[in-house]
Amino acid sequence: MTSVPRLSVTSDDITTLAVDAIVNAANSSLQGGGGVDGAIHRAGGPAILSACRAIVAAQGPCRPGDAVVTDAGELPAGLVIHTVGPVWNPGDDEAMKATLASCYRRSLQLGMEHGVRSIAFPNISTGVYRFPKPLAAAVTLDAVIEWLESTPEHRYTDILFACFDDENRNLYETLLVESP
Ligand code: ADP
Repeated sequence: MTSVPRLSVTSDDITTLAVDAIVNAANSSLQGGGGVDGAIHRAGGPAILSACRAIVAAQGPCRPGDAVVTDAGELPAGLVIHTVGPVWNPGDDEAMKATLASCYRRSLQLGMEHGVRSIAFPNISTGVYRFPKPLAAAVTLDAVIEWLESTPEHRYTDILFACFDDENRNLYETLLVESP
């Protein structure tokens, strides 16, 4: 039977969440960086970076829209799913939206393949990568809801959106009320 997951918003630092998997807004090199990526590597310790390096050595850089999984080192989460969002490029909106949607779909798919039931996403691409926050929130929720509906075999119970800033939190809270 398909479970109907709870979609909710939290203001908590994603590195503190004891969920089955947190998602990292990484870059293609998977070598760590600023923003949420830096926070995850700092809090999780060197094991995550070693695992990322092994993945890049084996299969090359992670393409935008794709995702890979590592363990979570010292984090309270079970796994880290690293995905690479698009760098916002005005004028290329449709391609940017498709790549961002793919980040969420691929992360959910990988999580499902690893038995994940609770997962937390940051607001991918809305920091240094400058994706407009209102558009990113709409694309995100459409992609997640569509994936859940088209993947009846999933076992997710909780999908959290870790919204680190007020604008994102307000956007997600509003959209989730409109389409719970
Ligand atoms: P990107 O390069 O994909 O834009 P950023 O890390 O710059 O990634 O930003 C993505 C989002 O993550 C931003 O909304 C930022 O506020 C948020 N963020 C930064 N640190 C954390 C954290 N520790 N927990 C949750 N979200 C965070």
